[in-house]
Amino acid sequence: MGDVDDHAIVIGAGVAGVLTARALARRFARVTVIDRDALPEREPAFRPGLPQSPQIHAFWKQGVDCAEQLLPGLTRELAVHGAHQLVVPRDFLWLSPAGWFPRVSGAADLTCSRVLLDWILRRMANLDERIEFLPESEVTGLVATPRGDGVRGVRVRIAGSTEAQILTAGLVADASGRRSNAARWLAELGYPAPSVERYDAGFGYSSRYYEMPDSPARDWKAIYIQTSPGTPRGGVVVPVEGDRWMVTLLGCGDHVPPTKDDQFLDYARSLRSPVLYEAIRRAAPLSDAQAFRNTANEWRHYESLDRRPRGFLVLGDALCRFNPVYGQGMTVAAMSAKAVADMIEGMSPARIHRESGRLQRVAAAQSANAWGLATGEDLRFPWTEGRPPGTMVKLLHRYMDHVVAAGGVDPATCRTIFQVFGMTAPPAALFAPAAVARVAARWNAAAASSPLAASPPPAPSIA
Ligand SMILES: Cc1cc2nc3c(=O)[nH]c(=O)nc-3n(C[C@H](O)[C@H](O)[C@H](O)COP(=O)(O)OP(=O)(O)OC[C@H]3O[C@@H](n4cnc5c(N)ncnc54)[C@H](O)[C@@H]3O)c2cc1C
Repeated sequence: MGDVDDHAIVIGAGVAGVLTARALARRFARVTVIDRDALPEREPAFRPGLPQSPQIHAFWKQGVDCAEQLLPGLTRELAVHGAHQLVVPRDFLWLSPAGWFPRVSGAADLTCSRVLLDWILRRMANLDERIEFLPESEVTGLVATPRGDGVRGVRVRIAGSTEAQILTAGLVADASGRRSNAARWLAELGYPAPSVERYDAGFGYSSRYYEMPDSPARDWKAIYIQTSPGTPRGGVVVPVEGDRWMVTLLGCGDHVPPTKDDQFLDYARSLRSPVLYEAIRRAAPLSDAQAFRNTANEWRHYESLDRRPRGFLVLGDALCRFNPVYGQGMTVAAMSAKAVADMIEGMSPARIHRESGRLQRVAAAQSANAWGLATGEDLRFPWTEGRPPGTMVKLLHRYMDHVVAAGGVDPATCRTIFQVFGMTAPPAALFAPAAVARVAARWNAAAASSPLAASPPPAPSIA
C-alpha cells in the first residue's frame, strides 16, 4: 500500500474524533481530522456540526481520565478555563424517583460548556505535529483498495473547492456523529448495512444560561431532579465557566419542556421538588432557552457485520448514541478512543489496517454497559419506541426500584449506584452478593422512608 499506510483519516472533530486522532497518532506518522464546520480557533464558539452544544454536558471522571491519558494536561486546562469538578451526590444533589440520595462521595463529574470542551480538546490536539485539521471540508464517500477488500481513503470536498478530491490513508475512522453516512458509504462499496437497535423515549431538552447568584449560604454546586415514569419531567442545574449556571429542563411524552421565558419557570416550578425552581427564580437569565429533540438510543452494529472492509472503523455517536439524560456519550467516546490506543500499542499501520475488525469490536464493547443502563431505564416508559421489555427487563426494573430506594438510606448502596452511573464499576456490581444483601436488608427501611422529602439532605459536615 505504499506510503498511505502511514496516514490515518478521522471524519469529524467532535469528542470522539479528536480523541481517536490522538490514539491513532501514536502509530501513524500523520492523522488528518476532517470536519465540515469552520472550527473556531480564537475562542469557544457554537458551530452547526454540534447542535447539541447549547445543552448540558457533564463529563464523568472515567471519561475525563481516559481523555487525560490521550491528552495529558486536559483536566488542568479545563480547570484553568473555569470547568467545575463535582462530587455526585455529595455536592451534586440528586433526587431519584425514590427520594434524595444521601450526600456521599459516589462519583466525580466535570461540568463546563460543550463549546469550551470542544475548543480545548481541539486546541490541545493541534499542538501534536502529527495531527492536521481540515475544516470546512465534507467527506462524501469512501474509496476502496484496488483489490476491493478494504478502504483506502475518502472522497472529500475541501474548503474552497467544488470538486471532491481523494485523500488516501491506511485507516479511516468515522466519528461524524449521529448523522453519520457510514452505512450508505459502505453500501456504495458493496458491503451490507449494519443492523440497528433503536429505543426512543421521546425526551426533549430545553436549556439556558443564568448568572450564578452569589450565595454564601448555598451548600450545593449542582442539582438533578430525575424524571420518573409517574412524573416524566425533570431538571438539572450545573455550574459552568464564567460564573454561570446551565439550567436544563427535560421531559418526555406530553412533558417535553418549553423554551418561552415564563413557561420555562412554570415548568421548573412543576418539578417533584421546589429546590431547582427556588434556585433559579430570582437568578438573571443570560440567554434564551434552546430546545433539543431527537434523543433516541441508537446502536448501529458495525462490529457484527458479516463482511466488512479492512481499514475502516466507526466510533462515538456514529456507532452508538444514548439518551443523554444519563450523561454517557462523551465518556463512552473517550473510553473507546483509549481502548483503541491500548489495542494498537506496538502494531504497525499495516497491521492496524488488517485488524480493523477486531478494533471495531473492542471499540463497540465500550458501549455495552452504558447501553444496558440507558435503554433499560427508557423501557420503563410505556411509550418508548423499540422492542418492548420482556420478563427479564421487567424483573430488572423491580430489582432496580429496590436498589434505588435502598440507595436513599444506605450510603454504601448509594456509592455503588454512582460508581455504576459514572462507569467506574459495571452494572454487575449492583448484583454482587454483598450488594444484594445490602439491598435486601434495607428493603423495609427504604419503604418506611417514603414519601419523598421535599428538601435534599443537608451537606455533610466534612464539606
Ligand atoms: C442534548 C444532548 C445532551 C448531551 N449531554 C451529554 C452529557 O451530559 N454527557 C455526555 O457525556 N454526553 C452528552 N451528550 C452526548 C454527546 O454530545 C456525544 O456523545 C459526544 O459529543 C460524542 O459525539 P461524537 O464526537 O461522536 O459526535 P459529534 O459531537 O456529533 O461530532 C461529529 C462531528 O462530525 C462532523 N461531521 C459530520 N458529518 C461530517 C462529514 N460528512 N464530513 C466531515 N465532518 C462531518 C460534525 O461537524 C461534528 O463536528 C449529549 C447529547 C445530546 C444530544
